[in-house]
Amino acid sequence: MAAATTPAATGAAPQASASDIPSVDRVLNLADIKPLLALYGRTQLTAALRKHLDKLRADALAGKLIPADVDDSQLIDILEKQLAAASRLHLRALFNLTGTVLHTNLGRALLPDEAVQAVVSALTCPGNLEFDLETGGRGDRDSLVEDVLCELTGAEAATVVNNNAAAVLLMLNALAQKKEVIVSRGELVEIGGAFRIPDIMQRAGAKLVEIGSTNRTHPADYANAITARTAMLMKVHCSNYAISGFTRSVEVSTLAELAQPHGLPVTVDLGSGTLVDLTQWGLPGETTVRETIRQGADLVTFSGDKLLGGPQAGLIVGRADLIRRIKKNPLKRALRVGKLTLAALEPVLRLYLAPKFLAERLTTLRLLTRSQTAIKAQSERLLPVLQNALGTHYAVTAEAMSSQIGSGALPVDQLPSHGLVIRAGNATNGGKRHGRALDKLEKALRQLPRPVIGRIANDALWLDCRCLEQHDEALFSTQLQGLST
Ligand SMILES: *Cc1c(COP(=O)(O)O)cnc(C)c1O
Repeated sequence: MAAATTPAATGAAPQASASDIPSVDRVLNLADIKPLLALYGRTQLTAALRKHLDKLRADALAGKLIPADVDDSQLIDILEKQLAAASRLHLRALFNLTGTVLHTNLGRALLPDEAVQAVVSALTCPGNLEFDLETGGRGDRDSLVEDVLCELTGAEAATVVNNNAAAVLLMLNALAQKKEVIVSRGELVEIGGAFRIPDIMQRAGAKLVEIGSTNRTHPADYANAITARTAMLMKVHCSNYAISGFTRSVEVSTLAELAQPHGLPVTVDLGSGTLVDLTQWGLPGETTVRETIRQGADLVTFSGDKLLGGPQAGLIVGRADLIRRIKKNPLKRALRVGKLTLAALEPVLRLYLAPKFLAERLTTLRLLTRSQTAIKAQSERLLPVLQNALGTHYAVTAEAMSSQIGSGALPVDQLPSHGLVIRAGNATNGGKRHGRALDKLEKALRQLPRPVIGRIANDALWLDCRCLEQHDEALFSTQLQGLST
């Protein structure tokens, strides 16, 4: 009967027919299916089973069904794999070997254990998010981090919102709605993912007054633009680009002098917003939030998950009267942070109170300050493991390379690093085939249980080991052994 119902069976391979496919009920009653029933429930299991049996029927019609396909244990195996894959969470852990430490698409800063513990507690226990333990009355969630933010920045007051884009939007709406904001043409930044100063300004209901030119803006440009409608002078950090050559921009201290007689605030969107001098660890220098306040900024906004190394958040610090106005704005309620953010942020900020230990305790800084020597030793340890896993179709070398800080922090600076470089094929292969082989490998790495993300450049796949910390190295190695290309 099998032969009669399957069209044109080719070759001598044994065939199975549609009538060999078991019924849903029969499979559900198999003794070995019990663990899957217990794990996934009858509804999910039945749906997966029906789908798979449909596929087998289509295979039978096409003459592609073989006896192994209808074997009970093979059926259960396949169901188990499919259900496991379907129940895997969409947000997954991966290895960031891109060489960009604060990678926006890969979730930016990684948080230290102190923050992890605090988040677990906030998730599992009620807390005093808006409850004053002294008075028993209602509290303010910002107060959980305000003191430490003021201590670290020298500001009078502070507030926290969802991210820095929200901080800028809120600040502009609260202080400059229907008024003018003066910004240099050299600072009309676009940050990836549709954050553009002119657009945010419009959405906040403020009117942008552009002054100066792309490369040069002078104090007189600001002075001449001040009118009765001016709400503030604003500076924006050129986070992801550098203007070099014949350039001029106006310092915060000069802006403060210009603004003072008019009673206007000077605001600074600092972007990454570092809290400490990074040059003490051999990293490129960035003006800190404290220095910006000291130079006369009335308000400074910055991100929580860039160089600061905390959770996604937007921090606004500065003059108490201005922060009060910002907190009264209805948008503040819409943009406020959740308890998980505050739980993670406070311990991260507290690490800055002991700067001596920061490079060891703050994950972001630890990754940024890893020495090239240590990274080199690691990539050389991993070289034979990877070469072995890839076989002779790929050539692996351990080479010096450059990491980037990322997330618009210090855009032009590179950190000396080390890692694995994979080139495809041998000298007789064409370039196109090399490209395809590299793409295939890149995909295979992405499909590992814990995906490995590198970058392809100059006909090679680059795996920068900077962000592969010691405690993850064993898992990384083990996975490579299971790599199939
Ligand atoms: C990164 C950045 C932003 C946006 O911050 P998010 O926290 O990503 O919302 C805004 N302004 C500048 C100057 C930045 O560098």
